[in-house]
Amino acid sequence: MKRAVYVNCDGLCTDWISAERTPALAALSARGLRCAEHRAIFPSVTRASAAAVATGCRPIRHGLHGNRMGLLEDGRIVVRDAGPPDFRGHMRKALGRTLRVPTMSQRVAKQGGFVAYSNVSPGAAYFLDPDEHGEVRHRAGSYGPGGLVVPPLPVKAGLQGDIAMADLFCDEVRRGRPRAISVMWFGDPDLTMHNAPIGSPAHMTALAQIDELVGKVAATVDALRAKGEDILLMVGSDHGHETVGNGINVTAWLDENGYSALREAGQLGFATQGTATLLYAIGEAERVVQSVLGKLKDEPWVGGIATGAELEQLGIAPEGGLVAGISLARKSDPNDFGVAGQRWAAFNGSEFKGLGFGQHGGWGPDETRPFLIVDHPAGKPARRTERTSLIDIAPTILTFLGLPVDGMEGKPIAWG
Ligand SMILES: [Zn+2]
Repeated sequence: MKRAVYVNCDGLCTDWISAERTPALAALSARGLRCAEHRAIFPSVTRASAAAVATGCRPIRHGLHGNRMGLLEDGRIVVRDAGPPDFRGHMRKALGRTLRVPTMSQRVAKQGGFVAYSNVSPGAAYFLDPDEHGEVRHRAGSYGPGGLVVPPLPVKAGLQGDIAMADLFCDEVRRGRPRAISVMWFGDPDLTMHNAPIGSPAHMTALAQIDELVGKVAATVDALRAKGEDILLMVGSDHGHETVGNGINVTAWLDENGYSALREAGQLGFATQGTATLLYAIGEAERVVQSVLGKLKDEPWVGGIATGAELEQLGIAPEGGLVAGISLARKSDPNDFGVAGQRWAAFNGSEFKGLGFGQHGGWGPDETRPFLIVDHPAGKPARRTERTSLIDIAPTILTFLGLPVDGMEGKPIAWG
C-alpha cells in the first residue's frame, strides 16, 4: 500500500530554512522538491489553513472563515472562536454542517484510512477531519471513525509537547496500523513566536527543536522505505509571522465611531484574525457598510480592504454576513532583532498578547510565505518557482495514492 505523510511546522516562514538554522529541513530540501513560491491562504491563520490542507480548497469553498468566524444565530451575528472543542457544534447548529467539502480523511476512509496528530488548538486539529471519518489525536480529546472514542494525546501544549508527540507519531507510522495518510501538526515554532520576538533566541531555539523533530520523521520514513514501503513525505507550514508594532481594539473602534447600537444588536461586528480582521454586517447594518468602509479607509491601522469580487479572489466568499476582509497596515521598520516589518494587529479584548511578538492573519509579505518540501525516492532534487499553495497538498497526496481529486481547488504538484 502506498502511504503519504504530511508534517506541518506551524508558523515557519520559508526564509528561516538554512543549513545552519535548520539542517534537517535543509537536507530534505536539497534532496526533494522545494516549492520556493509556496503561499498561505487568506486569512493566513491556522484553523482555516488546517481546513484548506484537509480539503484542497480555500475558505470560499470549505466554508470556515478563519480563526474566528461570525455565525448567524437567532438572527444575530455571533463571532465565535473556532479554537475551542465545542466550535464544531455551534457551526453545525448555525449552518447545518461543518466544512462544505469532503476532507482527505473522508476520501480515504475506505482506502487505507487517515490519522492526524496535532498540538495546536483543538479547533485547528479537528478541522483536519471535522466529521470524524478517520482518527484525530489531540490533548483536548481524540476520536476515531464515526466518533469512536480514542485516548487523548498525552502531551502538553508547547515545545515539550511537540517533542513527545513526534515520538508517538513516529511510533504510529513505524509500528501502528498503516494508514494511507498520516498527518502531524506541530504547535511550534508558531506558539513560541506568539510569545517572543521574531529572530530572538527563543524563536531560534524553537526552530532548531522543530527541525530536529522533522529529522526524526524523515529518518523514520527512510527506514520504512529501506524495507520496501512506498511513502510520499511532505513537510511544510501554514503561514509565516510578522512583528506586532501596534494594536487596535476593533470593538472599541466600532463604538467610538457610533456603531455601538448595531454591534450590540448583533448586526455589525469584527472577527479578528491577528493582523487581519473580517467585517460582518446584516440587517440594518447593511445600510451603513459603505460608511464604515469609508471610515476604515482613512484609519492608519488599515493596510487594505477587500470586498465583493476582490474578496472572492482572495479565496473567501462574501456570504453569511461577511462583507469585507481587512489586512492591517505595515511599516518597514525592523524589530529589535533586525527583522524588517512591523504590523498592526486587531483584537477585541483579552486575546492581545502585546507588542514586539509575532502574529499573522493578513496578506503581509512574510506571513503569507510558508514553505513546502515534497520528498520521494523517485523524485529528483528540484526547486519549483511556480506558485503553489496550501490547497495543493491534498491533491498531491491523493494523486500519489491513485485517488481522484474532483471538487478540489488545488492542483497536484508534479514532483516525479
Ligand atoms: Zn498556524
